[in-house]
Amino acid sequence: IKLDKNRLYVTVYPDDQEAYDTWHNDCGVEESHITRLEDNFWEIGEGPCGPDSEIFFDQGPEHGCDDPNCAPGCDCDRYLEIWNLVFTQFNKMPDGSYEPLQHKNIDTGAGLERLASVLQGCKTNFETDLIFPIIEATAKRAGVTYNEDPNTDVSLKVIADHARAVTALISDGVLPSNEGRGYVLRRILRRAVRHGRLLGIEGIFLTPLIDVVVDILGPGIKSIAEKQDFVKRVVQNEEERFNQTLEQGLELLNSLIDTLAAEKATVVPGSEVFKLYDTYGFPWELTEEIASERGFTIDHEGFEAAMKEQRERAREARVKEDAKVATPDITFLKDEELLEDEAVEASSVLMIGKGAERLQTAADGDEI
Ligand SMILES: [Zn+2]
Repeated sequence: IKLDKNRLYVTVYPDDQEAYDTWHNDCGVEESHITRLEDNFWEIGEGPCGPDSEIFFDQGPEHGCDDPNCAPGCDCDRYLEIWNLVFTQFNKMPDGSYEPLQHKNIDTGAGLERLASVLQGCKTNFETDLIFPIIEATAKRAGVTYNEDPNTDVSLKVIADHARAVTALISDGVLPSNEGRGYVLRRILRRAVRHGRLLGIEGIFLTPLIDVVVDILGPGIKSIAEKQDFVKRVVQNEEERFNQTLEQGLELLNSLIDTLAAEKATVVPGSEVFKLYDTYGFPWELTEEIASERGFTIDHEGFEAAMKEQRERAREARVKEDAKVATPDITFLKDEELLEDEAVEASSVLMIGKGAERLQTAADGDEI
């Protein structure tokens, strides 16, 4: 990809003379461009691990700090890590010792966005071909200009990043829900929608952005291109539902904070955070974000307690229902798997029941 060799720097683990020699002797990297870094060792608990070596791109002194020892590994923005090689050669044992692996390997990979930003001479990943078209489309829709107001830029970046993540997640089989990864999806989708509101956008805007994302990622990632319509249906369904509740919830939260501010309080009570979650679908993270913009924190413990209480109530309600009508035991079914979603085209039968009995099969005409 023809990066300027003079702007490339490498780091190696201090003891890893082999990597040092390879860079210096075989690749012709000058000694002044090689740094020995203590944290160039990759491991996550027990299992395969080993020293690593990183390649940095010098973005120029204007991105740097005043430290005379500024070099790759410094906290400033001058040296951008674009590539990493892990020499997986040990197996970390339960007692903390390292045993040589029988089959050693090199795990190597570049950061796609970082490489793009270096090649295109962009200030950040967001300005690359991989993301900027989403920012442009959003700015056009909102009638704002990028790079004029820092707050606007934050919202544009959040939306662009989250639109990509949402597309990738849904095309990979994740659906919005209130648990686990489905909840992560729901949270980032709603966060993107809210930032659209901050930009003054009314109505559906995230759904058409999916087309922009697919234009960028689709040619390289087949599953994303194939699921375009499906992803849009899921996003639209979720976006519409969230829009309906967002306005009501925001109004409520703002007037609540006004009241609290008048009382000189600085914490949003957990019961109120729960009410916003339960009634208006506000993830607590969203409430926290809005509250913090006005200098408030939220009562996490109180929220957790209210959540727990609600789960108890729901369980009791189920027991009561069960007493009224004889139904089979359905406690093995997880609520989060039971989605009501028009976008779903196929589903599986999890159980067949008649009265309190669970059946293995049923025939035409049976009442089940
Ligand atoms: Zn520095």
